[in-house]
Parts: sequence; C-alpha cells; structure tokens
Amino acid sequence: MTKPAGSRKGGRSALAGLASFFRQLSLFDPAPPETTTPVSKPAVAHRSANPTPASAQSESFASLCNGSYSHIQVILKPRLWDSWRVAWARRNESLRLEIPAILEQAPHSLKESLLEWAVLVTRRNIKRQPELRMRRAELEARIREHLRAPSGDGDGASAASGKRLARNRRRVGRLQPVGVHHDLRKTFQVINARYFQGGLQAKLTWSARLGGLSTHSIAQDGEGNAYHLISISRGYDNPDVTPEILGGVVYHECLHIAIPPRRESGRRVMHGPDFRERERAYEHFEVWRHWHRHGLPKAVRRLGKSKGH
Ligand SMILES: [Zn+2]
Repeated sequence: MTKPAGSRKGGRSALAGLASFFRQLSLFDPAPPETTTPVSKPAVAHRSANPTPASAQSESFASLCNGSYSHIQVILKPRLWDSWRVAWARRNESLRLEIPAILEQAPHSLKESLLEWAVLVTRRNIKRQPELRMRRAELEARIREHLRAPSGDGDGASAASGKRLARNRRRVGRLQPVGVHHDLRKTFQVINARYFQGGLQAKLTWSARLGGLSTHSIAQDGEGNAYHLISISRGYDNPDVTPEILGGVVYHECLHIAIPPRRESGRRVMHGPDFRERERAYEHFEVWRHWHRHGLPKAVRRLGKSKGH
C-alpha cells in the first residue's frame, strides 16, 4: 500500500479527510513492488469507504492511520500473540507495524497507543530523552496489559475469528494437568511461590503425545486472550519421578516466561547465559538434570511399550 504524498503532520480534520481520499485512490493503484509479501492482509484492505466506520466500538486501524500516523502500515499477524514490532520500510518512507491479529478488535485508545509507540520507538536519540523513554515504557505496559487481560473484547469478531476462538476454547478444555501419578497444578504452585513470588500466570498440561517434549508456548483462550502454556513430557508422569525432579522441569519452563527469548543478530536465543545461571538456582538442579538425561528417555520408551500391549 502506497501512502499519499499529500498527507503530512498537523491540520487535523481537513488534511485527514484529504489523506483518506488519497488512500482510497491508492487502493486502485497498481500494487507497489513488495520485497516481502505479508502473510496476512494489511488492515488497509478492510476499511470502508465511509469516513465513519460502521462498527463504532472498534475503529479500524486504517481509519486511524492519518495525520501524524499516515506513514504507518499496520500488518495483522495471525501467528503473533504477545509481541509486536515496527520497522522502516521502503527506504524510510513508511513504517511497517506488525501486531497480533487479535488487536484488530482492540479499543480505539489501545490502537492509538500502538501507533504512538511505533512513531516513538523509531525516533532518533530516544535513549537520551528520559521523558520519551518513560512514555515508551508506559505505552508498552498498556499494550502488554491488554494482550494479557483476562476479559475479552471480541465484539466485532468475524466468523473466522469466532471459529478460531471456539477451537481455542476446546483446546483449553482438553488441557490435562492431572496425570496418572502427578498433578502439575500442585507442582506449578510450589515452584511459582518459591522462585517467582507467585507472580507467574500459566496453564499447565501433560503433553498430548507420549514422546512429547516439555515446552513453553503462548496460546490463546476462547476469549482471544493470550496465555502462557507449559506442556510437560508424559515421561515425567512416572512413579519414579519425585516432586524434586518434576519441579526441575516445571521450573525450567517457568523460566522461559520470566526470561523471554531475545533476538541476537537474527537468531532467537532461548537459553542464554542469564537463563543458564538462573536455571542453576533450582535447589535440586543436579538431581533433576540427572533424571532428565538418563531416566526420561527410558521412561518414555516404557510408556511406548505399555501402550503397545
Ligand atoms: Zn528451555
């Protein structure tokens, strides 16, 4: 989507009207040469020709992208849950803001926060201006809070997102924290209280597959809110596994919530030095590590065999 050259900062309504007129025209322009094809449809495609949006509760991003935000292109990413990013596109002429698709239904004020954030973080020298840094932190906290909020706001949800939410609801219903030998909810409660001041929020389940690994991921519930999901390998649901051993793997996955992965020269760093150091703070670290290396593979094999008979 090319942005109109005529829309600049200032002069609120008249310029905004002009900008939206130009943007409408640009929909009929030949597609600009895209270096990367967005996975999802840009929000611009959803906008109505009417200047006042049909659904008053949730104004589309496109109708907000005028005035000082006219150079922002909002890309809704269905696979993004709790992160968002912005980058200059096409030789610094426009900002490409990638956000979780679920924010399409976010309230007006939150959408404005996202746009303000995109402009703020792409300014030069923000690091030397404490007020701007503070504003940035404030905006990020607000956005994060919305992404993690327990109450839904999916009023204008489409049929497709309705289906997705129903599927998510079934998925939440299928979570199995209670195993044959161990209840993961108890383990999580103990670890959370002891190592994280009870501050973590997560849902836990035994892995669906027998040989499943232990993982941490971001999932979405039936109301469209993101949550942390910890899945523990079925191999741990074993009578030989003591609470100390089970606590080790739950602690490891909890640490992924406390120390989120970061990007380092294009690579995702999951287990950096800081992570490894904190991992060793677990008081039964060696006992857990030993069983994880030697006991777990055997336990998983036994599970497979008993299933076959
Ligand atoms: Zn890990």
